[in-house]
Amino acid sequence: MTSHAAAMRLTILGSSASFTGANDAGSGYLIEQDTTRLLLDCGSGVLGRLMAETRLEELSAILITHFHPDHYLDLIPMRYGLRYGLKPIAPPRLLLPPGGRDFLAGVGSTLRNAPDMFNEAFDIAEYDPAAPLTIGDFTVQFQRTTHDIPTWAVAIQGDGRLVYSADTQESAELEGFARDAGLLLCEATYPHSDDLPSNNHLSGLQAGMLAQRARVQHLVLTHIWPGVVRSQIQAEARQVFEGPVTLARPGLQLEINGAVAIESGAGGQ
Ligand SMILES: [Zn+2]
Ligand SMILES: [Zn+2]
Repeated sequence: MTSHAAAMRLTILGSSASFTGANDAGSGYLIEQDTTRLLLDCGSGVLGRLMAETRLEELSAILITHFHPDHYLDLIPMRYGLRYGLKPIAPPRLLLPPGGRDFLAGVGSTLRNAPDMFNEAFDIAEYDPAAPLTIGDFTVQFQRTTHDIPTWAVAIQGDGRLVYSADTQESAELEGFARDAGLLLCEATYPHSDDLPSNNHLSGLQAGMLAQRARVQHLVLTHIWPGVVRSQIQAEARQVFEGPVTLARPGLQLEINGAVAIESGAGGQ
């Protein structure tokens, strides 16, 4: 259990793409400042790692970028924990993409013939991607990415500015959105090749180019396909991005002070 973060801080809970690699989890990122604790995405394996970092009932909000399973599946066990185990006085806000209420009602219907099962544990709202959102100390903004289902990148402004790419292909809009971020948390699903396995994601090289064009301070690569050589993805990004490039891994903590992100906690790159 860590103490609360006075400075704005990112903790990586999972860094795997699509399926969960050994000792890793799907997408999940805890962003904290003082008593504000925001969970970005909640893929498979995220819940246990989250509970190692913070008390579930102290989460300010959970924000889901899109409804691919590696970004939301652990909402299911989290619902059980909140409903039957922890019973917080105020249920955490669950902020969904447009259409998310119907999506989760469909999941509830399929699992338990209970379309309201998530409403019993979360204070559910759909965010309006066109409007800034306040979550405790943070102001959150959205940018649609280029992905095969509707997906939103998010910018989180606290004492510093963190931009999370969510899942995306190359996107000029995302370049503008990430401009001058203190930390860009960017998907880099696989090493670059002329014959990429999918056009739905970024390679390490493409993530590095995005960071360089957006002139961010620090690039953190995540959402990496299990089994690929991670150092190769990092090396590609370093070829084209002049700033520091860090590979995400569960437990890694990074501070975002003003414009600068300083690695702390787990250490190393
Ligand atoms: Zn994904
Ligand atoms: Zn996706």
